Amino acid sequence: MADRKPLALAQAPTARPSRAQVEEAVRTLIRWAGDDPDREGLKETPNRVTRAYEEFFAGYAEDPEEILRRTFEETEGYDEMVLLRDIRLESYCEHHMLPIIGKAHVAYLPSNRVVGISKLARVVEIYARRLQIQEKLTVQIANSIQKVLRPRGVAVVIDAAHECMTTRGVHKAGVSMVTSHMLGVFRSDATTRRELLSLIGGAAGGK
Ligand SMILES: [Zn+2]
Repeated sequence: MADRKPLALAQAPTARPSRAQVEEAVRTLIRWAGDDPDREGLKETPNRVTRAYEEFFAGYAEDPEEILRRTFEETEGYDEMVLLRDIRLESYCEHHMLPIIGKAHVAYLPSNRVVGISKLARVVEIYARRLQIQEKLTVQIANSIQKVLRPRGVAVVIDAAHECMTTRGVHKAGVSMVTSHMLGVFRSDATTRRELLSLIGGAAGGK
């Protein structure tokens, strides 16, 4: 009696499944696709898929705000735009769990502190390695920078292709989606926004 857990508790969404349960789920998908998970070529697949998922969704275990808190204040009064351009973006759509691949551009106008540029790339990566929609991803990156650095403005532009659109459904290859989120001066001042878009160039700057 004592070792029998109520089913509802065992299946609560907050309870993280075991690795064995995840591998079993992959075996189920393979069987459902019409193949035999025990044949030679597929034997190790559930294990490989589980490890790949660990990598794809590593962002849940990390805190982007923690990373942004490591700032530098000795900036000699630098107060112009800082732009990190063409950050490789690999995310996963929350509707189909398929890759969203593209580029992110992150800019901010420092007030008195700057952050290492690798940290900006890390913030993009942490939010990207979760189940996402591109709109939410764009806003989350901008808001976390705004909240921690308190700059005069933040801009995030993402240009990405969604595999759920290219490999299934409407099968439209070569289509990318551009989203942007502007805060502070980037939102209120058209000249600053234009400067940013011309620095980014290409598809995102054409709007
Ligand atoms: Zn999708």
